[in-house]
Amino acid sequence: MTSRNSDALPISIRNVTKTYGAVHALNDVSLEVESGEFLTLLGPSGSGKTTLLMVLAGFTRPDCGSLKFGDREVIRTPPHLRDVGMTFQSYALFPHMTVAGNVGYPLKLRKVSKPDIAARVEAALDTVQLGGFGDRRIDQLSGGQRQRVAVARAIVFEPRILLMDEPLSALDKKLRDQMQIELRHLHEKLGMTTVYVTHDQREALTMSDRIAVVNHGRIMQLATPRDLYERPANRFVADFIGESTFLPVSRQGETILFDGQPLLHDIPAPATDNLSLMVRPERVVLSREGPREGANNFAATATDVVYQGDSYLLHAALASGGQIVLRGAMRGANVTSLPSVGDALTLCLAPEDTVLIDGSEQ
Ligand code: ADP
Ligand code: MG
Repeated sequence: MTSRNSDALPISIRNVTKTYGAVHALNDVSLEVESGEFLTLLGPSGSGKTTLLMVLAGFTRPDCGSLKFGDREVIRTPPHLRDVGMTFQSYALFPHMTVAGNVGYPLKLRKVSKPDIAARVEAALDTVQLGGFGDRRIDQLSGGQRQRVAVARAIVFEPRILLMDEPLSALDKKLRDQMQIELRHLHEKLGMTTVYVTHDQREALTMSDRIAVVNHGRIMQLATPRDLYERPANRFVADFIGESTFLPVSRQGETILFDGQPLLHDIPAPATDNLSLMVRPERVVLSREGPREGANNFAATATDVVYQGDSYLLHAALASGGQIVLRGAMRGANVTSLPSVGDALTLCLAPEDTVLIDGSEQ
């Protein structure tokens, strides 16, 4: 998915800390972003995502740490000399200026000649599919169009690094899905090193080469979307990405036990005493024929069954205590007969879907 642009720059963030009074907005953050990579900072509100982006852009000076673009230390470099394009959490467009006025603004700051500005603005607008919109006023545009103007303004001076702070959060779901694909195509086309911020885990999974999960100003895990989902490093990441339920397990030598029974698992358990079994709803299988050979079987009672059109959700209480949620496909027998509340069930988890994680919260 990553395209490599020879002008793209790697970013090296080392031991960056930023405090506001007692709040550690960033707590000793180190992160390497590869040249041309699309990297997403994903975390809940208040976790430090915007602060880190502001440090990269040069609008916030950290208390300590180092920041390199390529070989160049830039921690003291002012924003306009950093060669960074940015879209802000609020679009921060000038409402009474035209589209062209907004997009051309960074070029005007850089003292580019008027004819050059006109040509480059038109090219940037073409890139975001707003060709011919230059004379419109910002307040005549829809949310999605404004967002594209913000992107055009960020890329118009062809920066080597692009930063985007929750660019799609104000859009409705359909438009957001469409813009996700558009922004990904734009990245493939331009190939600039991109740091993208979102609190939406599905958006992060959709768009990124790699994702850094942030919580309380720290990076909890840095991984590809697939590794993050399949092998979360801890319970916070497992909880934040996708849905899951957790069951307590114990270790006896090499064997992992749940409710006294050994668990079959293809993936080695992490070396910690605080282990949890992570159960993703779509990996659980409902067996109508009782326990299955070669799988982990859980005797359970249905406590809630929810029809959701494309799938159904089943909440089940385990005989041993604890709860499992199953998401099942709507096809075959399920279309005519979903399980009912109170049914005694067997839920199965294949060894390759049996993932043991560090059960600690951080
Ligand atoms: P996010 O973008 O992940 O929602 P922020 O980076 O905006 O998080 O904020 C991280 C933490 O730093 C929050 O607790 C926030 O209240 C605090 N913070 C951010 N900017 C300031 C500021 N200018 N003054 C005081 N506290 C701030
Ligand atoms: Mg923010």
